[in-house]
Amino acid sequence: MSDQPTPMMAQYLAIREANPGALLFYRMGDFYEMFFDDAVSAAAALDIALTKRGTHQGQPIPMCGVPVHAAESYLLTLIRKGFRVAIAEQMEDPAEAKKRGSKSVVARDVVRLVTPGTLTEETLLEARRHNFLAAFAQVRDDTALAWADISTGAFRVMACPQARLAPELARIAPRELLVAEGARLEDLAEEAGAALTELPQGSFESTAAVRRLTALFKVETLDGFGSFSRAELAAMGAIADYLELTQKSQLPLLRLPQREQIAGAMQIDAATRRNLELTQALSGGRDGSLLASIDRTATAAGARLLERRISAPSRDLDTIRARHDAVQHLAEDAGLTADLREALSRVPDMDRALSRLALDRGGPRDLGAIRSGLTQAITVAGMLQDDSPTLLREAAKDLTGHEELIDLLDDALIAEPPLLARDGGFVASGFDADLDETRQLRDEGRGVIARMQGEYAELAGVASLKMKHNNVLGYFIETTATHAQKMMAPPLSETFIHRQTTANQIRFTTVELSELETRIVNARDRALEMERAIFARLREAVLTAAAPIGQAARALAEIDLSAAFADLATGEGWTRPLVDDSRAFRIEAGRHPVVERALKRKAESFVANDCALTEGETPAIWLLTGPNMAGKSTFLRQNALIAILAQAGAFVPAARAHIGLVSQLFSRVGAADDLARGRSTFMVEMVETAAILNQADDRALVILDEIGRGTATWDGLSIAWAVMENLQAVNRCRALFATHYHELTALAAKLDGVENATVAVREWEGEVIFLHEVRKGAADRSYGVQVARLAGLPDAVVTRARDILNLLESGEREGAVHPAEIIDDLPLFRAAPPPAAAPAADKPRDSEAEARLRDINPDALSPREALDLIYELKSLS
Ligand code: ADP
Repeated sequence: MSDQPTPMMAQYLAIREANPGALLFYRMGDFYEMFFDDAVSAAAALDIALTKRGTHQGQPIPMCGVPVHAAESYLLTLIRKGFRVAIAEQMEDPAEAKKRGSKSVVARDVVRLVTPGTLTEETLLEARRHNFLAAFAQVRDDTALAWADISTGAFRVMACPQARLAPELARIAPRELLVAEGARLEDLAEEAGAALTELPQGSFESTAAVRRLTALFKVETLDGFGSFSRAELAAMGAIADYLELTQKSQLPLLRLPQREQIAGAMQIDAATRRNLELTQALSGGRDGSLLASIDRTATAAGARLLERRISAPSRDLDTIRARHDAVQHLAEDAGLTADLREALSRVPDMDRALSRLALDRGGPRDLGAIRSGLTQAITVAGMLQDDSPTLLREAAKDLTGHEELIDLLDDALIAEPPLLARDGGFVASGFDADLDETRQLRDEGRGVIARMQGEYAELAGVASLKMKHNNVLGYFIETTATHAQKMMAPPLSETFIHRQTTANQIRFTTVELSELETRIVNARDRALEMERAIFARLREAVLTAAAPIGQAARALAEIDLSAAFADLATGEGWTRPLVDDSRAFRIEAGRHPVVERALKRKAESFVANDCALTEGETPAIWLLTGPNMAGKSTFLRQNALIAILAQAGAFVPAARAHIGLVSQLFSRVGAADDLARGRSTFMVEMVETAAILNQADDRALVILDEIGRGTATWDGLSIAWAVMENLQAVNRCRALFATHYHELTALAAKLDGVENATVAVREWEGEVIFLHEVRKGAADRSYGVQVARLAGLPDAVVTRARDILNLLESGEREGAVHPAEIIDDLPLFRAAPPPAAAPAADKPRDSEAEARLRDINPDALSPREALDLIYELKSLS
């Protein structure tokens, strides 16, 4: 056995070495094969068989493979599991290689590197979500973030201080983040759920960036784009560089970079996004998120726009009002909205079709998508009159002007074009006379061959003789061995030429048949060739108009979103919020859209609640108390969501809403442990609280739920107290503060602008009933024991808890007694039956009442007797 690798293995190893960090899909005929460690990890990840092929340095080579036609689904699994895949294709026909010599290997090369941030295939993408590739660059003290979605052409850039990186990544939610080697951003990327890719420093070089970007946009200079800082150029350049690396020769169609300002959008940090479940529920999926419960868009592009708007509500009053105007116009015209939505539901994903066409991964179906999208765009434009609000009128202007292209595509394509151009059959007849003629020749030839069967059967005197076709022999005449005898003897053997003998059959051809076949094959190949040329021409025509088509697609998404918001507003009874630059926050009869929906499913109704933080200029804080489960968190969150919806351009779930622009939204809700990062609940809470106190300005809206819960009572109370004072005096922001520390309610009297509110409950027969009503004033007690009972704690534990509570509370009333002393005095095991002996002398109160209670049979009591009994028991205490 020699140690020399075979020529094929040598080629494999060379390609492998040139593409580190990725699994190599090595094309061999109808399969992509993987070898060595790649095979071992891919077989495990894909749950496919691991086999062996040949040896390398004396060891068997592990191998596994996936069929080319099913490769996309395997790719999807691998990408989801965090792999990158390099695809090496055969760059020539194997026949070519054979001509060079028997030892020569088919030329292969990597044509594409598939990574999470560079997907374009429909099956690999989520239709209603963006797939962003982001790059973070640092040039000295200057830092910037750029991000692109090559499946839609979006390309954006922004100056981004390192401290803002986490919240911006949380907003954009990129699938992949590019950083320079040694940037140490693993934690940030993981937090944002993005795959981290380190590139050499050279990829972030700002002068090389200019060269890469001019090449990407096929322009001479970048001057027309506006001026960019070196860090911004570096970030965009890294994206361009990575696209060259992963897409090889085909560069995607990106729009000119758009600059975003951090100050343009409501700032929402990562924790707040998570807590409020804006685009993802805490459980991980889209279900249960705000996004899922309000998404009524009819198109995938509209859904993606909705996600962007919810992730980045605007801070520009004109923009917000223009969006509200559009929604109001459509909400007042249900007929128009229904018509629009009907037309929009037939709009395919033009952005993604365009991107595939640009990368030369598109097919006739993508051309068809452009055709129907542009056709529907005309219908939509026709529905929007001149008296429509500005936003709709401007959008309508972008929808038309493609009549010539539509006509071309209409004439050229059949009604339902196939996915791939490869097999032809998508060009409509009547479009190209040459093609029609060639196709006729091909089809007639087939007809002639069918007729030949009868003629040959008669000539040979074999009625059962058949004309057949397969890929190896082409057309042939087939008969059984017995009948074949006479065909192989003169004179018939002059006509019938023997081709093949199989187990039961003998196959022949004739000069006439092979001539005809050549003509058919030629016609077929020519027809295919012509269709491919037509495809290329149509693709070119579409790509020439790519910019205005992209604009039409964006206009449709905008109209779709306005109509979806209008539909939501009418369907759910939402109203137009008044947004201005005051500091008001006044919500009447507000609701939580997600909780309300969940309750509706159970046929329960949601109790609407008011919130009035600030009327004029004085900031105000509500201190909300009330038992667990009363609805405090729901109330807190619903007010934050209403602010987000209003500034995203939607109507809001409230009877009335007046909101002074919110610049930043902070929330500290719930107590999810972050054990993965080695932080305790309390630590996470304090880190988040610190961020709020350090950043919140007087336009911020802050929502704090149960601050200080993660530590000892007095610690927690003190922290909550101090935080509250800081919000009121230093941050001077609008805030909702929920707490179970009743002691805090005393603050309301001391601090200007702090008011107490409570979620009402009623007590009935020893149980709490949640009214979910928010009222002014403080809660009188916490009802924790009752709630514990509702939760199904064993009766004995609940009873014991109640006793302890009574003792503690009465101790507190009598003053001076420290809880520790009372606890020292508590009898140990109350859950066990009490001893028959006389009760301890130091607790006569309890024992008397207990003795009386033991005599009672509750089932035998009338309500009146029960009431009397309560008075009696009370007198004993
Ligand atoms: P808390 O924060 O006070 O412990 P939550 O806000 O988590 O309470 O609310 C507990 C449950 O009460 C919710 O899951 C919801 O089902 C119900 N709830 C809350 N607010 C309302 C309301 N306004 N109307 C009806 N049900 C509500």
